[in-house]
Amino acid sequence: MSWRVANSLETLLRQINARFPGRSVLSDGSIGDAAHQTRDSDHNPWYGPGIVTARDFTHDPKHGLDIQQMADQLLDSRDPRIKYVIANRRIATHTDWQWGPYDGPNPHEKHFHLSVVADPLCDDPQNWQLPVLSESPDDGGDGGTNFVTWGTGVNVRAAPRLDAAVVSVLPGPTRVAVQCQTRGGTVSTAGHINDAWSFVPTLGGYVSNIFIDDPAAWLPGVGEC
Ligand SMILES: [Zn+2]
Repeated sequence: MSWRVANSLETLLRQINARFPGRSVLSDGSIGDAAHQTRDSDHNPWYGPGIVTARDFTHDPKHGLDIQQMADQLLDSRDPRIKYVIANRRIATHTDWQWGPYDGPNPHEKHFHLSVVADPLCDDPQNWQLPVLSESPDDGGDGGTNFVTWGTGVNVRAAPRLDAAVVSVLPGPTRVAVQCQTRGGTVSTAGHINDAWSFVPTLGGYVSNIFIDDPAAWLPGVGEC
């Protein structure tokens, strides 16, 4: 049986490949492998003349593709081509655009899943309007220096201290653009101790450098706040 992927998903693949050169495609996929075929019908060419209406994109924050960021921006876009998105044990559908728990057998921590609607809109090839896709491939300049966090449930705080308010929580490794760093409250974990904190404007707060995946306690190439 012949099949093809919905044009809207091919457009997103092209945009993502252009934006994140060198990204891992380890967990990418369109038509179901044996496992997908049994568990996830949108990966099968079930709509119309053999059209696959789902695609997976690999989590590779080192090369800039952060599945949580992509998934959040897809929801924010309210693009009418979206049917549902799954990432990091959560699913959101186009009925209410709200994240809810996802407890399928695959937690979707290594890729995010996008299903598009099973109607002619799925073949609409216009570009996806996501902020992350409109940045230039090498960032730099105003955005800050890119690093990746490690660990789960990492707090972003309003000030560089452990008693400052939590402004957001990073569910897993996340790509962050660090604008500057400063000395603040001492943090210790896993045998490390560090009093440096990174300011990340897009998160609106500070992350302890202990959770930045870099061997240096004071990040190279980042100025003091
Ligand atoms: Zn999938």
